[in-house]
Amino acid sequence: MQAVYADVIVDITRESVDRTFQYLVPPELTDRVKEGTAVRIPFGRGNREVDGYVVGLSGEPKIDPARIRPILSAGSGKISIEAKLIRLAAWMRFVYGSTMNQALKTVLPVKEEEKPDAEEQVHLLADEDTAREQAEAFRRKRHTAKARALEILLDRPAHTASRAVLRREGVTADTLGRLEKEGWISRTSQVRWREPPELTEAAGRNPSEKEPVLTEAQQEICDGICREWDGQGRPVLLYGVTGSGKTLIYIELTRRTLREGRQVIILIPEISLSWQTVRRIRACFGDRIAVLHSRMSRGERFDQYARIARGEAQIVIGPRSALFTPFENPGLIIIDEEHETSYRSGQAPRYDARDTAIERARLEGAHVLLGSATPSTDSFYRCRKGDYVLFTLPDRYGGADLPAVEIVDMREELREGNRSIFSRRLQEELCACMETGSQAVLFLNRRGYAGFVSCRSCGHVMKCPHCDVSLTSHSNGQLICHYCGYRTAQVSACPSCGSPYIGGFRAGTQKAEQEIRRFLPQARILRMDADTTRGKDGYGKILRSFAAHEADILIGTQMVVKGHDFPDVTLSGVLAADLSLFASDYRSAERTYQLLVQAVGRAGRGSRQGKALIQTYHPEHYSIQAAAVQDYIAFYDEEIAGREIMRYPPAEQMLAIHGASAGQERLETAMRYIRQFLLRARRSDGTVLIGPAPESVARVQDTWREVLYVKDRDPAEIYRLRGLLEKYVEINSGFREIYLQYEYNV
Ligand code: ADP
Ligand code: ZN
Ligand code: ZN
Repeated sequence: MQAVYADVIVDITRESVDRTFQYLVPPELTDRVKEGTAVRIPFGRGNREVDGYVVGLSGEPKIDPARIRPILSAGSGKISIEAKLIRLAAWMRFVYGSTMNQALKTVLPVKEEEKPDAEEQVHLLADEDTAREQAEAFRRKRHTAKARALEILLDRPAHTASRAVLRREGVTADTLGRLEKEGWISRTSQVRWREPPELTEAAGRNPSEKEPVLTEAQQEICDGICREWDGQGRPVLLYGVTGSGKTLIYIELTRRTLREGRQVIILIPEISLSWQTVRRIRACFGDRIAVLHSRMSRGERFDQYARIARGEAQIVIGPRSALFTPFENPGLIIIDEEHETSYRSGQAPRYDARDTAIERARLEGAHVLLGSATPSTDSFYRCRKGDYVLFTLPDRYGGADLPAVEIVDMREELREGNRSIFSRRLQEELCACMETGSQAVLFLNRRGYAGFVSCRSCGHVMKCPHCDVSLTSHSNGQLICHYCGYRTAQVSACPSCGSPYIGGFRAGTQKAEQEIRRFLPQARILRMDADTTRGKDGYGKILRSFAAHEADILIGTQMVVKGHDFPDVTLSGVLAADLSLFASDYRSAERTYQLLVQAVGRAGRGSRQGKALIQTYHPEHYSIQAAAVQDYIAFYDEEIAGREIMRYPPAEQMLAIHGASAGQERLETAMRYIRQFLLRARRSDGTVLIGPAPESVARVQDTWREVLYVKDRDPAEIYRLRGLLEKYVEINSGFREIYLQYEYNV
């Protein structure tokens, strides 16, 4: 029988993550030793017995087989938190294709110690009269510093001051030392967990603030979800319009999970505005919550982990990385706004937090709840297939009305001689808004915008004949498809109507601001985009200023449509719905639907009825039509039909193979070889290869980038091909200077 060797990580501390050691798997243990298994091994010269975890298995010895020692025992006792996370890392490696090290670094918490912030308190020991006399005595002897210190303490409640206060008053450590030696003061230090200021603000709220009672509909959904989890235990998708009470359901289910003695992980999209959700949950659970986010200092992060490790926090709220919180026994993972792109990692392993959450829940016997007002096509598809269960909250709490929506045809504007990016209707509505003293939000979506070419007379968009995505205009005068590499020459007249008004769509928030000034010179305008939101509290400042009604119009990119209720906003305007509609990727219609629904939802949150205007060159497009009436099902049915025909996810599986290299020719050759290899390795022509093609950003800092797509119905076939490709690339020297990354179903 062939020997099997295991790569073992010893005790997960700082450096050892990067270093594995090989051990022999004894025949009697082969059934039990898998990736993620905890093993007992001899280590070091003295053959000390230590614990380790298996991270890989192979038939190849890396050193002289005679020097490889055998594993002593496997999988004994209870599985540790680390072992479970390592098993999750192994799954991520398998599904998303990365190195084991990259996967481990993603799941295992930073162990680097940061000293907690110890806040020193200084207490006065003598009684008040004695201390006053002494202070005067010090003054007479010209020991002013010591006198001053006593006087400060005398002024403070309980005659105690923090070190920070004394320092501010100019009292030195030296003075305090002498006072302590002379017996006038004592010092104590108390560990204070560092936390972001936004959270401390939330803690100030009274936790017993009268809690809403669930409505009948909300209660029924909670019970229904619990029944599902007591039975089949499938992941649940909670589809509820904004303001329907999803957050309340999260809170109720969290409460039920805590009662079972299990922990809860709540993921929110990585945007500053989600503090609203954090505050509400914090108001219910107080100190039992730890919060993580990417802009935290290392000290803050370390402290939050420390509170989790001590069992002080049983709920964690954070962005996708909070999924890997080392809880002992998590019972529930909630993913709010599950359709958000920030649940997809941009670094290897390029994991999807939703699927990874479902895998972690499977390993832990926990449940997953996905929530959204505009569910992703992926999640809704799985509901239809029965992999997830759908629960729906169709109405806003209190029956609040949605704004009236008007679609404005921009082709009409051009015909009437208006070349501005503001239609006459929108100009009118903005003026009306100013007259009544209410506010307006204008939205210019530039996310994923990649220079598509369209006709302003008839709306025709230059698309790839094979991939149904927009072609991107390049400086070399060509239009290129970033899926298959199809190229065609730039056009000067519209192929559909002959109009010369065909070209790239150019409009920025700055230009829009200038135009408003032309027809509404008195308007106070706030602009929110990448330029104006730099700095730690960039968004916060703008949002607070607008909420305080210090401006009439807020104009910005997609960030203005998220979260935040402005009660005085009665008008929401989408300047160019087409910008996101014709981004060059197959999800552009889905993103447009989501953004439009959110944008429309900005208006009329207060008592006044709201209005929304959507400007577009494609008023008939299904994602615009469906968004105007908030009919998700109508949108979904059209969308999924298109995905089936074009064989895009979720109908089929799609693997992107991204290649990067400093040498353009070397990269092109390598990608061609990969294509040929995959053509040989595939089992049937049911596996489709597309490309290679230049990436939409084809060159970054002198690195060339290309992408090749593989599509198949069966995920197993995708994993198999990727596994073969990884080996092929490893043993072929031609790929040495090619950097490859895999991306699954994006
Ligand atoms: P979602 O998370 O779906 O957007 P929220 O949970 O934020 O909805 O609820 C929207 C608003 O309605 C909140 O201000 C919330 O306090 C209120 N609300 C929802 N359900 C209730 C309820 N049962 N009782 C009182 N207020 C409620
Ligand atoms: Zn045209
Ligand atoms: Zn194409």
